[in-house]
Amino acid sequence: MTKAIVPGSFDPVTFGHLDIIQRAKRLFDQVIVAVLENQSKTFLFSLEERVEMLREVTKDLPGVSVDFFSGLLVTYMKKVNARVIVRGLRALSDYEYELQMALTNHELDEEVETIFLASSARYSFLSSRMVKEVASMGGRISDFVPPFVEEKLRNKFKERG
Ligand code: ADP
Repeated sequence: MTKAIVPGSFDPVTFGHLDIIQRAKRLFDQVIVAVLENQSKTFLFSLEERVEMLREVTKDLPGVSVDFFSGLLVTYMKKVNARVIVRGLRALSDYEYELQMALTNHELDEEVETIFLASSARYSFLSSRMVKEVASMGGRISDFVPPFVEEKLRNKFKERG
């Protein structure tokens, strides 16, 4: 049984993430989406909210589960007995950071390999940051995120006024 981890902040999950998760599932029997709980990064959504949104939008995908981790990804991977990380690559601007992370993770645990999937062309501009910016200014985000996430974003910015 092959297993892959799709790690990230998912603040919030977008159609770009979902595309990578679904394509990873075609390559591996089991995909665990692992949400990073990072105390030093500030997120719009709490860990619980990010996990809830991911669970909702992946609930009809067999073999896909959602979990969370804090600390080192390689430590989490040992715990769940996984060796493959799948990350999406959008533009050249993603490359340097992604390469650094892949090399670091491999250095920390040589059993761990990172596989990159090229972003689908139609999502290659899409990021959680951009979605939050558009939503904060009341713009239309239905092409970027599933309806459940759209609703959460709307409420979040209503709360904040
Ligand atoms: P992080 O904060 O760890 O970069 P993100 O939640 O922003 O996490 O992204 C998680 C993963 O999804 C990363 O590999 C990122 O490159 C990928 N990703 C994000 N948006 C897209 C997209 N539009 N198309 C393909 N991959 C994407």
